[in-house]
Amino acid sequence: MTKADYVNKGLYETVYEGDQRRRCVLEIKNDTASYRAYCIQCTSMSVFKAESQNVAQIHVPVVGHYETPKDDTRFYCDIDFGKRLHCAMCGMFMSVYFKVIGNKVVKVGSYPSTADLDRGKLISENSIPKSRIPKELATAIGLKAHGVYIGAYAYLRRVYETLIESARKKAEQDGVLAENFETMRIKEKIKALSDYLPEYMVETRDAYGILSKGIHELSEEDCKTGYDVLYNLIVLILEDQEERRKKELRKKDISNAINILNGKFSD
Ligand SMILES: [Zn+2]
Repeated sequence: MTKADYVNKGLYETVYEGDQRRRCVLEIKNDTASYRAYCIQCTSMSVFKAESQNVAQIHVPVVGHYETPKDDTRFYCDIDFGKRLHCAMCGMFMSVYFKVIGNKVVKVGSYPSTADLDRGKLISENSIPKSRIPKELATAIGLKAHGVYIGAYAYLRRVYETLIESARKKAEQDGVLAENFETMRIKEKIKALSDYLPEYMVETRDAYGILSKGIHELSEEDCKTGYDVLYNLIVLILEDQEERRKKELRKKDISNAINILNGKFSD
């Protein structure tokens, strides 16, 4: 049995399923491996080391209980066991909580939250400035972190639609928008706007169809299978777009400077 990467699993995701769940629980409890994850204190990607001495059972004292409990003064919060890790750079703790349900070991919580870890990873691992990351992408990450994959697909698709709409506006301004543009299918629209969209988005335009299919026809489980690929594709497209935007700005600056030089030297 191979131990799952429970650190980077989403909330309510199954870490293990099968008849060896006891072994899985023990493996996680005794785990001392290192995991790459975002550290909210370092505000960068870091390495988290699993601690073997950990919160084997999470005890939460009952607050506001008037009667003296008969046997146990604690309740278990629907958590069966927890795992503590620490950031190798700053020492900050990360906790991951699990529940055994039937023959499954399910991740039921974490501090920091899975959504914060995923958003931090997005911000620190690509060349898109924070202010230019579409809010739809952040929402998709939040939904994925809660295991809502069909919803996440809907927001990933909106990132696509926003890119297409801004490309359409530019093409219209330049007077090159095809007359029948509005009646085109999305894939055709992407092709028609190829001069205004990231090259890779045009190349992989079938992805839009997969996102739509996910929203209308596929199960949560199917959507989950494809999520990482589609998410990484969209991040790559956004990076391309950002690179393009920066290049355009530089070209504009250089053109302006050349004009000034021209004016000076022609005197
Ligand atoms: Zn840290």
